[in-house]
Amino acid sequence: MQRMKKYGALSSDLHTDMHECIGHASGQINAGVETTDKTLKNYASCLEEARADLVGLYFIMDKKLVDIGVMPDMEVGKAGYDNYMMNGLMTQLTRLKPGEQLEEAHMRNRALIAHWAFEKGKKDNVVAFVTKNGKTYVQVNDYNKLRDLFGQLLKEIQRIKSEGDYNAGKNLVENYGVKVDATLHKEILERFAKLNIKPYRGFIQPKLVPVMNGNDITDVKVEYPDNFFTQMMEYGKNYGFLPVKN
Ligand SMILES: [Zn+2]
Repeated sequence: MQRMKKYGALSSDLHTDMHECIGHASGQINAGVETTDKTLKNYASCLEEARADLVGLYFIMDKKLVDIGVMPDMEVGKAGYDNYMMNGLMTQLTRLKPGEQLEEAHMRNRALIAHWAFEKGKKDNVVAFVTKNGKTYVQVNDYNKLRDLFGQLLKEIQRIKSEGDYNAGKNLVENYGVKVDATLHKEILERFAKLNIKPYRGFIQPKLVPVMNGNDITDVKVEYPDNFFTQMMEYGKNYGFLPVKN
């Protein structure tokens, strides 16, 4: 918990950076295999999100990141693992109503990775559910073994994508990324309701305002609006170029 407070924000930033830059930007499809929208169909985007997340997870526990100075020590990587497993196994379920299953690609991918790693690491007690005062918690016991599991899953998902192995991809998603444990879900919803916070976060974009001198732009000012609703309405009004009806 201390670790997550101290390093949570940095580890989440680094993970997102690597997810986007070296995650989505890496990996190749084998010669002669069609693109994943054709081979993996409805599972393509979930598996691609999982692949990008796994690249980030694998490298956030790499000492190279300390050596190049983007994180102060390996505790950042551990905070990333704590957070990912907790979210994938538990916290993200706050977004679902009782009885619902996981549908959205990012949520499925997080569940897939967390449940797969939990299950494959079970015999070595790599990650455990612990109960204290009637509340369930996720506890990572072995960060290096967990990293190794992430590496194995990354290898398998890359293989699925490179070879266009629909059945293997389907099995991974359906077995690990869709189902919700009803008892745990109920507990999480009850605990979350007491916190009175929202299950989603949104982003407000900075606004770039040109400084004009006649017809020339001489500078650009960055403004930070503070109301999400106003910004969305403004986007709709000024940039809604598509017709409402086709
Ligand atoms: Zn992504």
